[in-house]
Amino acid sequence: MKALPDPPYATGTTRTKHGTIRTPALMPVVAVSYGVWDLWIDGEYTAPWDLAQATILSLYHVLQYPRAKQVRTRGIHAVLGTSRPVFMDSGGFQYMKKGVELDPMDVLAFQRDSGCDVGITFDFPITLDLDDASRTDRLDRSIKAANLMLEHTGDMALYGAIHGSSPDEIEAYTMRLDKGFSGYGIGSLVPRKAHYDHLVDIMHAARSLTSLPIHAFGITGFPALYALSYLGVDTFDSWTYLVAAAYKEYIDPERLMRVKRLKERSHLPHCDCPVCQEYGLKDFIAPTSEGEALLALHNLHVFLREMSLIREAMDKNELEDYILVKGEHGNRNINRAFRAAERKVKEKKDQYR
Ligand SMILES: [Zn+2]
Repeated sequence: MKALPDPPYATGTTRTKHGTIRTPALMPVVAVSYGVWDLWIDGEYTAPWDLAQATILSLYHVLQYPRAKQVRTRGIHAVLGTSRPVFMDSGGFQYMKKGVELDPMDVLAFQRDSGCDVGITFDFPITLDLDDASRTDRLDRSIKAANLMLEHTGDMALYGAIHGSSPDEIEAYTMRLDKGFSGYGIGSLVPRKAHYDHLVDIMHAARSLTSLPIHAFGITGFPALYALSYLGVDTFDSWTYLVAAAYKEYIDPERLMRVKRLKERSHLPHCDCPVCQEYGLKDFIAPTSEGEALLALHNLHVFLREMSLIREAMDKNELEDYILVKGEHGNRNINRAFRAAERKVKEKKDQYR
């Protein structure tokens, strides 16, 4: 592992068959199997994939979707009606929670048939409660699945899923992956996503090992988004915009916190996103799919605007200042996560001096 450049971050690009993604970027999770998706897929409203540079789906949601067969025959871009990049995750994390395992070759065949731009290898995530033998077994199987899928990926870009519970484990795992992946997706982060020291340890290790694009799976809070962008992580996925909307929660565009119990409110913090120019509180609280879709789009606008401001601050070389200002009048965890990332970078720099 080597020290990161100074500053550790820089904007960049990830190229795909459907265009280039400016990074760091957040990809909304498109969870097609439930809720509001048909409204968007049938084109009644601007959809998440119209707003974001790229979107990500999990096979776990896609396979339960009534139009799963169409995804296979017509392709995911035709079903969603988008010409932007689409990532297809294997759903390993959700399948683990259900105690189900898929055959990695079936996953690859589906990803290839769907015409997605980037597939992610099927994995066996690790959790905190595993004993050593089970953890080693799951890591071994994830590596085996990744290398097998890489052998047959054809012209589809494939990200290798990486797991580990310490920087050493991340390094050992990565060394056992064959060469040829287009990038890496770092998983098993969710169970400890609010343990910022652990999170930055793992992501710093991954970033130090490769210059290929790296994706942090399931990291959705603003504190971690800032801290990991600072560490040079390229892409993130989030469905917070959607989950918050399902609970009728509005993300405050300035303080970046969720405003709850919308029904008891007379007004919302000001927002200049396109959704809020046309719709407002009474539309968001309507007990309909439309209300949920609109609120989700507002929430997504807040995330995407923030990522765009992060890129802007990076280009001016002032991301640190930007994060500190955000931390001053918003979520206190923004500072905690950022300080953890800064400490890590400094520690490594001193070590290699
Ligand atoms: Zn808005």
